[in-house]
Amino acid sequence: MDKFPKPYAEIRKQLDAGKLTCVEIVNGYLDRIKAFNADYNAFLEVYDKEAIELAKQIDIKLSKGIAGKLAGLVVGIKDLLCYENHHSSAGSKILDSFKSTFNATVVQRLLDEDAIIIGRQNCDEFGMGSTNENSAFGPVLNFKDKNKVSGGSSGGSAVAVQADLCQVSLGTDTGGSVRMPASFCGISGLKPTYGKVSRWGLIAYASSFDTIGPMAKNVEDIALVLGVIAGEDGQDSTLFEKKVKYTRTNKIAYIKEVVEHKSLQKEIREAFFLQIEKLKQMGYEVEAVDFPYLEQLLPTYYVLTTAEASSNLSRFDGVKFGYRTSHPKGLMEMYKKSRAEGFGEEVKRRIMIGTFVLSADYYDAFYTKAQKVRRLIKDFTDEMLNSYDFVISPTTSTTAYSIGEKTLDPIQMFLGDLFTVQANVTGLPALSIPMGEDASQMPMGFQIMGKAFDEELILNLGKNLVND
Ligand code: GLN
Repeated sequence: MDKFPKPYAEIRKQLDAGKLTCVEIVNGYLDRIKAFNADYNAFLEVYDKEAIELAKQIDIKLSKGIAGKLAGLVVGIKDLLCYENHHSSAGSKILDSFKSTFNATVVQRLLDEDAIIIGRQNCDEFGMGSTNENSAFGPVLNFKDKNKVSGGSSGGSAVAVQADLCQVSLGTDTGGSVRMPASFCGISGLKPTYGKVSRWGLIAYASSFDTIGPMAKNVEDIALVLGVIAGEDGQDSTLFEKKVKYTRTNKIAYIKEVVEHKSLQKEIREAFFLQIEKLKQMGYEVEAVDFPYLEQLLPTYYVLTTAEASSNLSRFDGVKFGYRTSHPKGLMEMYKKSRAEGFGEEVKRRIMIGTFVLSADYYDAFYTKAQKVRRLIKDFTDEMLNSYDFVISPTTSTTAYSIGEKTLDPIQMFLGDLFTVQANVTGLPALSIPMGEDASQMPMGFQIMGKAFDEELILNLGKNLVND
């Protein structure tokens, strides 16, 4: 298996030279899935026969020299993405039997470039969670230590890469769900700029925050996949491409309140300062800045995302698709029981909070206020990025928790998103890369946030830091 964690470009050279075939690659991953998936629960479904069939066809294309850019790249997709004639359940009982009739734009683009989709990956229900313990299909365990969580909500996607069950995963990030599990599992993950990758075919959680991003062991693979999935598709009206040329300052900021935060694990703080030293040696000026809104980030995020979720999830009513209660007495009971039985606890909690903050009496006090604070945070962050090329931080304040450690205390669980949500509240791109391990050998993560549509610069810095 040692060949698989290599960047795809190296695998491609072997494929083009006829030294390796797609069928061999797929069989290699299927063997590992067979060996590990039952224990770690990363994939909810594996498309084994299909993947081999596809691999055979792509091997023929390769031999004719007509294969796409991602020929033989083995990808897993989060259970929130639609794949025609395949189940997509959003980690929820309410969509357990749902099959999509169309492809998400990202899925279509992967297929068009001859990537091989090997399966559907476990996640927190509708992307709501930070540990993958909110999946209706059981938690995903961390491949480094089975007693630890994978992180969430793209936990299955992270562990699948961590355990070499696929080369790249597509996760989704509404508040940190690509970066946080990437950090907990010692891999890399990118949350692109909001508006760069189409959300068509992504089962919505909070539409003004949701993004789709690649996760991989190599930053090079993330850049490659981003290049394929990004861009206008005529389906998502929030897509745009900003073509301004930024002036580079060669300066990097970190937020003082972040490194001073009481929740920050000592080893993570130390590793973070070592990264700063590395950056200085690379020629950057690194400075501490004040960010007065750190305490406002999570309330803003949770008021707005629950509001959007309560609206988005109203479509799951037992009528149009998914789970329906058996033998209801009348229409109202059918709605109520289908939703009560179909959704999990966390999703129900968020629907109720979201409905409350949108209700006539509280709308201005919560929803409107949170929108205003979102604007303040965005303006302040954009201002910061006028003077700096990047804002860096640890991805998370601690390494992976033990299974069950935070499940009884939702506020503690929400705190885990403290460093990641700024990028979602502002729509900016952010990458998490590995930053070594703590004393108990659990991975730590380093986050690089940048200007809108500046993914290339962020990925280059990430690559240089990882390869240094
Ligand atoms: N942990 C955050 C939440 O529960 C982020 C989720 C996400 O990015 N999908 O909302």
